[in-house]
Amino acid sequence: MENDYYSLDANDEDEIWVVEDDDSMLEAELSKRFNLYNEIGRVMLSSLDEKDIYKVAVEALHFSMELRHVALFQIDYQFNELVLKAQTGEYVGFIPANYRHGLAQGIMGKVAQAGQSQVLMVSKKRLQEALVGKAGKEFYIPVKIEGQCFAVLYLVCASAAYNKPFDMLVFENIASQIGVAIQNARLFTEVNQTRKELDTLLHVSRDLSASLELPIIMDHLAQRLLESLPESRLGLIQFKDAGLASLRRYYRISDNDVRSEPAVEIALTDYPELTHPQQTRQATVAYHTDSQLLPRRIADQVKSMEPTPFLYIPLNVQERAIGIIVVNKVGIHHNFTERELGVSQTLANIATISLHNAGLFRQIEAANEQLKKLNAMKSDLLHIISHDLKSPLTVISGYAELLLERPDVMAARWEATLQEIISQTQMMAKLIEDTLAVSRIESGVFELNLCDLNLLDILDNVIAIHQHECLFLKNIPAHLPRVRADKLRLHEILENLIGNAIKYSDPGRREIIVSAIPDHQAGKMVISIQDRGFGITASELPKLFSKFYRIKNDKTQRISGTGLGLYIVKQMVEAHDGGIWAESQLGEGSKFSFNIPLTR
Ligand code: ADP
Repeated sequence: MENDYYSLDANDEDEIWVVEDDDSMLEAELSKRFNLYNEIGRVMLSSLDEKDIYKVAVEALHFSMELRHVALFQIDYQFNELVLKAQTGEYVGFIPANYRHGLAQGIMGKVAQAGQSQVLMVSKKRLQEALVGKAGKEFYIPVKIEGQCFAVLYLVCASAAYNKPFDMLVFENIASQIGVAIQNARLFTEVNQTRKELDTLLHVSRDLSASLELPIIMDHLAQRLLESLPESRLGLIQFKDAGLASLRRYYRISDNDVRSEPAVEIALTDYPELTHPQQTRQATVAYHTDSQLLPRRIADQVKSMEPTPFLYIPLNVQERAIGIIVVNKVGIHHNFTERELGVSQTLANIATISLHNAGLFRQIEAANEQLKKLNAMKSDLLHIISHDLKSPLTVISGYAELLLERPDVMAARWEATLQEIISQTQMMAKLIEDTLAVSRIESGVFELNLCDLNLLDILDNVIAIHQHECLFLKNIPAHLPRVRADKLRLHEILENLIGNAIKYSDPGRREIIVSAIPDHQAGKMVISIQDRGFGITASELPKLFSKFYRIKNDKTQRISGTGLGLYIVKQMVEAHDGGIWAESQLGEGSKFSFNIPLTR
């Protein structure tokens, strides 16, 4: 390495171990130095920030002890490297910010591994290469925490200065003070971090349990995860049907500002990296160069060849996988710490509980809706039994009693009486039939048996039933396309509309125009039943299709009905993916039209 000023590659022949002694150290000088390193120790211990301590230590050593160069390297055991953390000095030019060197190389590596201080004379040869001018001496002092070396302090001084064993003691003492200061700072950070994590977990459980909406819970989870994982970006995947998923990418702007991109749809097969976490259902870390699952950064282009750690957290609700969260630590040498993995898993677990609750809540809501419907149906049924079924029964039993008690009076009218009894019975049967149809529709039991049908056949069928009651005119093109419908239901729809057209027209004006016009563009057949009956006012038209709605006027008051026919027809048409509407002119007649899909 060209700019290697730290004797990492020094040859053994360059090394001259200095063993000198001098009894002439003045007492004054001794106490001056003693005070000096005490002061350095005091300055270091006043900070509780690791980076700050490195900087303060290096600078204090450099200035107060008049050293030519001071640097501090921390050992990164995960990658077996020494990383330059702070430096100062008169002769060193540019050194990359994140200067790293293998732990197995050079004197620095040996010192780090053995944990033994070393002194090295800088040879003339190396002087020319690295230092500007003056000969010097290098000190390598291990910095330890609880006996384990975690950094190396590197000092360079003029060759005449600091060459006594006493000096080495001073340096070692300062190194051990750095160790104490760092240990304090780490403990402080840990306490702080634990407090922050507890705070986050408390907030999260409060936030998450406050919502029962799946998207809100997921969003909170993503935000909180990013807040507790520094230097990271995140992808939130929610599974959908047919191997599809929705993906939302999250990124940080600052500590408390997390943003997301709009959700996009992805096919899970495009992301094989999700297969393993999906199968194991465990949070796992894997190394990749990059992932399309995460927001892009400019830095990605630069480091795209360097693998970085990706954390996959599967989200399961009661054995069912509902999604995966992917988090990536930005930066080549960053990994997830045990604590971060723990916090992430805990957050995901809390979210899972909330998601489970949200699921239960939705089930309760659905059940509640169903109960409300059943309750409304029960009220309808009670209404029908108490009013509509009771009045024909009263008529029937009244006539029956009269026939029994006064056969002489009834003898002349027996045929009309029986006719009335039959008509009331039919009315009751129709009411029961309609009520059952409504309850089938509303309870969701109602199913369609869709076929490709010839509409004309069905129309002719219904017309044949009623041809003795009125005159039919057909407005139907010669080659009528087939429709996609349920035969029985379509028959029922037509029967109902034609029945009404006859029922609500004066006998002298019973004339019905049946038309069927295909609308190829919309893919629908428009079918209309037009009569010359009583007609309906504009204000009443919108209410016709409501349950139990009946028009009450002079013309209709003697006509029996349930008010359920058009409601049932509307539900049936809509089940076919169609629509129904009415046009009318009072005194002129009405036209009821509906559309249903053409066969494709
Ligand atoms: P019902 O015929 O049993 O009363 P419907 O739901 O079939 O119930 O019709 C609701 C109301 O709409 C009827 O009471 C009637 O007043 C009005 N109506 C339906 N069809 C026609 C029509 N072709 N002409 C005039 N009024 C109609």
